Amino acid sequence: MSRYISSRFDTLKEYVPGEQPQDKKYIKLNTNESPYPPSPAVIERLNSAEAEKLKLYSDPNCRGVRVRLAALYGVEAENVIVTNGSDEALNFAFMAYTDRGAVFPDISYGFYKVFAQLYGIDARQIPLKDDFTIDPAEYCHADGAMVVIANPNAPTGLTLPLDAIEKIVQTNPDSVVVIDEAYIDFGGESAIPLTKKYNNLLVVQTFSKSRSMAGARLGYSIGNAALIADLNKLRCSTNPYNVNRLTLAAGEAAIDTQAYYDENCKKIIETREKTAAALREMGFDVTDSRANFLFAKTDRMSGGDLYRALRERGILVRHFDTPRIAEYNRITVGAPEEMEVLLSAVRAILGL
Ligand code: PMP
Repeated sequence: MSRYISSRFDTLKEYVPGEQPQDKKYIKLNTNESPYPPSPAVIERLNSAEAEKLKLYSDPNCRGVRVRLAALYGVEAENVIVTNGSDEALNFAFMAYTDRGAVFPDISYGFYKVFAQLYGIDARQIPLKDDFTIDPAEYCHADGAMVVIANPNAPTGLTLPLDAIEKIVQTNPDSVVVIDEAYIDFGGESAIPLTKKYNNLLVVQTFSKSRSMAGARLGYSIGNAALIADLNKLRCSTNPYNVNRLTLAAGEAAIDTQAYYDENCKKIIETREKTAAALREMGFDVTDSRANFLFAKTDRMSGGDLYRALRERGILVRHFDTPRIAEYNRITVGAPEEMEVLLSAVRAILGL
């Protein structure tokens, strides 16, 4: 750090993304990317004619993507904002709605804590129950603080049913409730329909997981038009061309080929269930994940040791050296062949 940076960042602990080592080719099961490529229509759209248009700014209204998303989810374009990954939408929400603090689970997406610290927000982190579930009652009546819940939660993969989400939204008329649905397409029930009924609900989704576009950085949020206008105000006060041209073109083609991604989700869910069953057979404790990752621990070896042993064999999983979850590893659901390699490696490491 230089001596010029503001002292208000002295204690800021930045978000640490999953490692991307370049020393050799790994089987990457550590950042919840899709094992499948974008649809052929997306690849085709990213042609040289599109590249030539890079001399022009991108559409600051992201109209093509917004209109398509609105049609897909049965809302109006004014109910949709398009962002540079869903991280950017979360950033705007933490900027916008936290005068009276923020409430989120102690074990969840690590970026929530970072945003809270970045903006000096009074953050109340509510411990998950011993079985890692969320008790919805603890998020009702948040007293004006923004409520943020990942559904499915990360890294546990556990979901909250829609009636529990509705109760949280209903009992918090003075708070914005943000439901982060990064992994919703792998088995959860989306809260998007509730955005028509409640003006304090913001649903955040992404193209990074089920739509195979993590590297393009494309996210979106759906909510009441007034909430979307709030976020647009912050977007236009930071980076009005927040999504680049190639990403917007790819996003349009992706929505136009939604059936391809639905099919991929089915395959990923099938692979998830097979892998979970195989791990359980080896004695692993595996949460009932509805996401594109598994969260598992074994009594035979510590979470950290298993992570390192897999890494030595060229397989990357995500280990969080954090209280309560240090014995676990989060394993992205890859292609069936990749999961076979993973399972063989685990068997060899544990001597099974
Ligand atoms: N929410 C959750 C729960 C996540 O795990 C992630 C991925 N790291 C994100 C949001 C952000 O995803 P992106 O910015 O790629 O859309």
